[in-house]
Amino acid sequence: MIDYQTRLKQAAEALAEAEIILVGAGAGLSSAAGLEYSGPRFTANFAPFIARYGFTDMYTAGFYPFKTQEEFWAYWARHISLNRFEPPAEPLYQELRKVIGTKDFFVITTNVDGQFLKAAFPDEKLFPVQGDYAYFQCAKACHDRTYYNEEQVKAMVANTHECRIPSGLVPVCPNCGGPMAVNIRKDQYFVQDKGWHEAQHRYQDTINLVLSRKAVLLEIGVGFNTPVIIRYPFEQIVFNNSQARLVRINRDYPEGSPDNIDRTLSFGENILEVISSLSETSQ
Ligand SMILES: [Zn+2]
Repeated sequence: MIDYQTRLKQAAEALAEAEIILVGAGAGLSSAAGLEYSGPRFTANFAPFIARYGFTDMYTAGFYPFKTQEEFWAYWARHISLNRFEPPAEPLYQELRKVIGTKDFFVITTNVDGQFLKAAFPDEKLFPVQGDYAYFQCAKACHDRTYYNEEQVKAMVANTHECRIPSGLVPVCPNCGGPMAVNIRKDQYFVQDKGWHEAQHRYQDTINLVLSRKAVLLEIGVGFNTPVIIRYPFEQIVFNNSQARLVRINRDYPEGSPDNIDRTLSFGENILEVISSLSETSQ
């Protein structure tokens, strides 16, 4: 592998020459930004839930089959509040915004924590394909609207006692009267509302541009959980456009596709370190 400083220089040059930057971001980005789902951040914030249910981290806790809505929402309100509403724009996301600078760009992300919005990436440049913690939907997707939940989540957190919320705070579908869910893709009932479809169209339009331009595809923290959403399509785009470069930053799986190896710059180094270095050179 080429040494780190040379790869950094090549990535910085590719970004400087790019007519458009397509960012693809996965869980590894938010994790590197400090929004860890396990370890001290988890244990410090979920002690009563850990004592009651034996939870080990926020990923697996999110799949726990709570027996009542009151318990379900007590956990989820805490989870949403901690990951979506309480954190400011993390420095890593702010550094990434600087890397983009004034270039034309678009972001597709599987992250549902709203960090791109907080770090001044405009809404119309984002496609959060897997949803957003800040919205509720009908759990059975009986209609395709989503509902901003910040005030409800705050009320639930403030009124949680013994890992339950009061029954009066349990959200109810305004259409069918059934339970609500968080608008994140976890089963076949994920609601893709009007905003989701508009973002998808803008993403498709961007891909059409990227296919014919001098483009950099900047993929960060995307592993093999759902590679068909970002990782494989990005490799395909670079394969189909000889002017495109893939900059892949991934602690565990930085390697490029053999078909594009000469057009891929791989970074297994610390994400914050790589992005901060690129942001310095882009000033
Ligand atoms: Zn409903």
